[in-house]
Amino acid sequence: MKRMLVLGALVVMGGAAIVVAAQQKPQVIDVAKISDNYYVLTSSTPGSPDSFSGGNVGVFLTAKGVVLVDTKLAAWGDTFLSRVRSISDKPVTTIINTHTHGDHTGNNDRFGTNVEFVVQENTKTNMAKMDAFKGDKAQFLPKRTFRDRLTLGQGTEQIDLYYFGRGHTDGDAFVVFPSLRLVQTGDLFAWKDGPRIDRPNGGSGVQYPQTIAKALAALKGIDTVVPGHSPMMKLADLQEYQRYTADLLKTVQDAKTAGKSVDEAAASAIAMTQKYRGYATERVKVSVQDIYDELNAGGAANR
Ligand SMILES: [Zn+2]
Repeated sequence: MKRMLVLGALVVMGGAAIVVAAQQKPQVIDVAKISDNYYVLTSSTPGSPDSFSGGNVGVFLTAKGVVLVDTKLAAWGDTFLSRVRSISDKPVTTIINTHTHGDHTGNNDRFGTNVEFVVQENTKTNMAKMDAFKGDKAQFLPKRTFRDRLTLGQGTEQIDLYYFGRGHTDGDAFVVFPSLRLVQTGDLFAWKDGPRIDRPNGGSGVQYPQTIAKALAALKGIDTVVPGHSPMMKLADLQEYQRYTADLLKTVQDAKTAGKSVDEAAASAIAMTQKYRGYATERVKVSVQDIYDELNAGGAANR
C-alpha cells in the first residue's frame, strides 16, 4: 500500500514537470551541417508558435566572418544568436535577406551596426514600410541593393544573388553558393503546397511559374536546394514546383474562364494537386483566391 502511494506521488510529480516544461518556450532551433563552411538553422516549418522560429537560415563561413541568409523571427532572437555563435564566434559581416517578411528579417538588428545588409531593391522598399525598420531601426535597412544580379566574394567564398521576377513578393532573391552547388530559394519555393502570394508586397501568382522557369534556365551546377520553410531538397524538387505552379495557374485560369466560383476553382486545384506526390493542400485555397483576385485586377500587368 505504501509503495503504491509513492508511485502515485511520482506520477503526479511527473505530470507537474510536464506542465512546467510546456509553459516554457522550447528553445529548439536545429543546426544542420551541410559542409565545413555552410550550415542551415532549421525549425522553419510554420505550425505551432512554440516551435516555428522563422524560415531556414543559411550560415556561410568566410575568412573575414559569417554571412547569414535570413534572420528568422524576432521572438526567437536569443536562441538564434546562440545557434549562430555555436557555429562560429567570428563577427557577422553580411546579412542577405531573401525577401521582406518578418520571419526572414526579424533579427537583422541583433548583430551590430557594422553588418552589410544586402537585398533586392524592391525588398528594400518593402522593408522600409515595416514597423520593424522604422525610427531607430531604420539603420538596419539594407544600404546595398541589386536589381537582377550581384556577386559577393570570390573563389570558394563566392555568393551569387539573382532576381528573376515577381512571385512570393516582388523582391525575392535566389542565393547561390557555386562552390557548394547549392541555392537558397527563400519563399519562392517554401514548401510543397500552394504558394503564398503576397500581393500587397508585389507578389504574383500569374508571374510565379515563369519566374521559377527563368531561375531554372539560368542556374547551372546546382544539386542542393534549401527551401524557405522545408527540409533540404534537390534540384528536381524545384523543377517539379515550377510545373506545379504552372498547373495551378492554368487550373485557376480555366476555372475562371468557365465561370466557376473561387470555391469550385479551389476544389479543382486541390484535385490537381493530388497528382504531385508528397504535396499538401492546406494552402491551395488561399493561393487560388489570390490568383483570382489578381486576374480580376487585370492579371499579368507588370509593376
Ligand atoms: Zn515569406
